[in-house]
Amino acid sequence: MTSTMMRMSQRRVGLLGGTFDPPHIGHLVVAVEARATLNLDEVWLLVAHTPWQKTGRGVTDAEHRLAMARAAVVGLDGLVASDFEFDPPGPTYTVDTLRDIRAQHPGADLYFITGADALGSILTWQGAEELFGLARFVGVSRPGYELTDAHITEAFHRLPDDALHLVEVPALSISSTDCR
Ligand code: ATP
Ligand code: MG
Repeated sequence: MTSTMMRMSQRRVGLLGGTFDPPHIGHLVVAVEARATLNLDEVWLLVAHTPWQKTGRGVTDAEHRLAMARAAVVGLDGLVASDFEFDPPGPTYTVDTLRDIRAQHPGADLYFITGADALGSILTWQGAEELFGLARFVGVSRPGYELTDAHITEAFHRLPDDALHLVEVPALSISSTDCR
């Protein structure tokens, strides 16, 4: 098999990590737009079991957030609600999740999708070098946050071509915080 054919046989999988407490139309627009723009076969709403970054408030039970995410993707082609981070239950780091997904789905090319609010911090996470070896990253626009933030522009110079994609999505000023 030539390397081109091997690449063609890979499934292109987008991963939209989040708490989804609750899921909303902004998440769905991001997933649908990223899928179309990057020609992804599927996009997973990767529901965090125990979002350790959100310790300041009570988070809705993981099973309920997963059930809401499943209901939200019904009828949307290529969108899947994923409980990958439920086994084992507990807090997870993105780097570990990406490593595990790669091990269990060796035929997948991974694209980790985040809104402009979260992207700036990912780029400064510990283990960022390893992260970029496990998946490509996709930053999507979000009202109130700049995709041309200094962190992000700087990362473009540091990272190999293709490691980071920026995608403009239709602006929806909605958040789970507003919904709650
Ligand atoms: P919360 O207000 O509780 O933080 P949220 O609306 O930010 O909720 P999350 O579950 O934290 O939702 O987000 C999951 C992912 O979706 C993050 O990468 C976030 O940046 C992105 N996202 C959420 N809402 C939007 C939106 N309206 N436009 C673009 N990206 C979004
Ligand atoms: Mg958020």
